[in-house]
Amino acid sequence: MKKQYEVLENALYFLEYDKSNTTLYFYFRTECLSEFNAINSENKMAILYRNKYFSPGVSYTQTIIKTHGVNDCGVIDGIFGNYTRIAFMIPVNKITSSGEDCFYCRGSGKHRNYNDMDCPSCKGLKKQTCTDKTALLAITETFSLLLFFMEVLFYEKEEELHDQLYMIRSIVGSGHWSHAIGGSMSKKFIDGINDMFHFHKERNETYKGMMGEAVNVNYALDAMASVWMKIKNESFMTPSNKHELMAWIRFSGEFSLRCEGENCCTISGSRRAGGNTFFIKEGQSIGCHNLDSAFQQIQLLVGLASLGEYVVCKKYETLPV
Ligand SMILES: [Zn+2]
Repeated sequence: MKKQYEVLENALYFLEYDKSNTTLYFYFRTECLSEFNAINSENKMAILYRNKYFSPGVSYTQTIIKTHGVNDCGVIDGIFGNYTRIAFMIPVNKITSSGEDCFYCRGSGKHRNYNDMDCPSCKGLKKQTCTDKTALLAITETFSLLLFFMEVLFYEKEEELHDQLYMIRSIVGSGHWSHAIGGSMSKKFIDGINDMFHFHKERNETYKGMMGEAVNVNYALDAMASVWMKIKNESFMTPSNKHELMAWIRFSGEFSLRCEGENCCTISGSRRAGGNTFFIKEGQSIGCHNLDSAFQQIQLLVGLASLGEYVVCKKYETLPV
């Protein structure tokens, strides 16, 4: 089976996710490397962008010149066809202790109802804990920066980029809606989703969903679940956690990906999706709903990466009947 970099000869960038090593890959046209060299600490646009969107001390542009990643969160690990690849290993959230007794278990380290289980809050550490999100933020901030520069390059080369699946923009901030993702999906991606929908329809694998006839995409769902487990350092998801994840497509080229969160934290592509930041000709919008954290944003980037790969490489054709 062909890989994305073999199918997508004329894209500017695309994402890929490998579940076996929980690594998110960013592929971009190798010729853009020289453009990155123009990004440096003296560059006004980069400084402006960094100061506007980036928390001080976590990450910034200067390191992108050295390693093309921020801190050590992303490293270039190879060249594939027309593309250079940056690998982002998804980190485990570091747990730090405050010294006070855990509020949930009152310092026993045990689950309130099940004595043989560790406390779900402190994981048996007995002390109140909080998570260090620096590593997750470094990834989302690097992505935000990469996507921003890709967008600038896209306008210069739009005519020749027939294989671009999506153009997205992401932000990183604090508070509600601070990790929004928006953009457009291309006709090529829409057509790919339609082909997949009809493949499943012929096999009677569609169901009546909230928004009409739909097909679940377990490939993307499993990818998001693996990220959830890696970041939380859990070996499985409880049914209620898993229930929050969702990945489906429809005949109209629509898709929706939902991650864990309090209120339907999703990205979706459709004619109605709001929040598009720019257009690809004949495409439709990608919008989001209630994305509040780097944890959610990374899950959905992985969901989009997996959906894209699944569609363009026609991985569904290998499913058993
Ligand atoms: Zn506890």
